[in-house]
Amino acid sequence: MDYPAFLHHGATNGVTGSCHQLQMDAQHSLLIDCGLFQGAETSSEGRAGADRLAIEFPLDTIKALVATHVHIDHVGRIPYLLAAGFKGPILCSEPSAKLLPIVLEDAFKLGFSRDQKQVERYLKLIEQRIIALPYKTWFTLQDTPSLTCRIRLQRAGHILGSAYVEIDLHYHQTGEKKRIVFSGDLGAPHAPLLPAPKPPYLADILVIESTYGDRLHEDRRSRRQRLESVIEQALADNGTVLIPAFSIGRTQELLYELEDIIHRKKLNAALNPPLPSGEGLGVREGGVRGKTNNDKADINWPQLPIILDSPLASRFTRVYRELKPFWDKEALQRLKRGRNPLDFEQLLAVDSHQAHEAMVRHLVETARPAIVIAANGMCSGGRIANYLKAMLHDSRHNVLFVGYQAQGTPGRDIQTYGGRPGGYVDLDGQRYEIGAKVHTIGGYSAHADQKGLLGFVTRMRQWPSQVRIVHGETGAKRELAERIKAQYRQAERNVEVVIPNGADE
Ligand SMILES: [Zn+2]
Repeated sequence: MDYPAFLHHGATNGVTGSCHQLQMDAQHSLLIDCGLFQGAETSSEGRAGADRLAIEFPLDTIKALVATHVHIDHVGRIPYLLAAGFKGPILCSEPSAKLLPIVLEDAFKLGFSRDQKQVERYLKLIEQRIIALPYKTWFTLQDTPSLTCRIRLQRAGHILGSAYVEIDLHYHQTGEKKRIVFSGDLGAPHAPLLPAPKPPYLADILVIESTYGDRLHEDRRSRRQRLESVIEQALADNGTVLIPAFSIGRTQELLYELEDIIHRKKLNAALNPPLPSGEGLGVREGGVRGKTNNDKADINWPQLPIILDSPLASRFTRVYRELKPFWDKEALQRLKRGRNPLDFEQLLAVDSHQAHEAMVRHLVETARPAIVIAANGMCSGGRIANYLKAMLHDSRHNVLFVGYQAQGTPGRDIQTYGGRPGGYVDLDGQRYEIGAKVHTIGGYSAHADQKGLLGFVTRMRQWPSQVRIVHGETGAKRELAERIKAQYRQAERNVEVVIPNGADE
């Protein structure tokens, strides 16, 4: 066997369950991420979910786990990895080290036990294993007569704490040196709150994600305007806007954008009080079909409740607030001007399950204008499912998707069948008709698009000679592969593009 070698245990046939093993030599390997499968990938082969949770590969050579970021499809199987006997350290960035115990506590409660003593013991174990690495700093993981391995994390701009991983291998017997880069999930430029990722200086081998390998995002400005018009249109229906969102990342981005929209609305109202007739507000550019000024005049933005119905998301939001040194310049500037991007007046956090049930009832009965953000992002569970069950049939309400919906998830079904006659979705084995309007803001993604992914490769000083494409649906991987090859051809360089276990391998 030639080293380094790669084993991809997940995220080869889809976008979830990321788990890659870098075999450095016969005795030493590293694991990059250990994520949970979601959606169709949990059942596509007719296997029960629990089978996919178990760790099926030998652990004896694995010296450490590197967690690129704390999304559940990258770290959700860590409890199973520990249960299988993994004894090594968990390396991650400093912000991830704060977020990871919260994520793993939740995963442990869902998969193992809610017994407080067991949870605490488990959390202690996790905290002992975590090694927080500062960004941009080399860390020597292994130094033996035959092999030196150092790793360095760089900001990936995807969610707070996200990193791409640079790994330097030095084989002393042959003198050979290799730099391997794992992209993890890469953020889009102009994502709220976080600085855009800078590509690495060089790589010999790059393992890159491809979630949006076949798509381009809208720019930031039009995206915020679309968010604003979709919400205005939805609120004009005199109902609730339901936004399914993942607790980490997307929720905080949404809060950040909503605070900005509300801030602008307040400024606008102060500068241009509406004429008595309700006219004169002007139609915004990128306006919504069939809308009139009168519809908008009724929305009382300063009083509009933004309901964050997720104790987990609230915990993450608190950590996001604490970790201001990792925010981007724009966010810090807003703070300086006395604004609170993640903690504003209308923000209402719903904590207990009782309060959650009361909120669902209240919104069903009153259909009052409100924005609800609840997890999970693909509607496969969590509190959003209770809102959907109670409200999806009612045409006054609106569902707004701002994130990627994997195949086989209820979210993807609502997206596909919403607005079609007789459209329905199965939630917990029950059929629910979709009467609510369904919107998608595609450009609102925490992932780099095709241009961003290509730039990550071609803006390196020294382009990789091998690119391994993972973490995307088949079409996205193929198209990204073609684009990468074309760029290399144009630059008269050689590359081997590998799609591990892909349909066209
Ligand atoms: Zn992610």
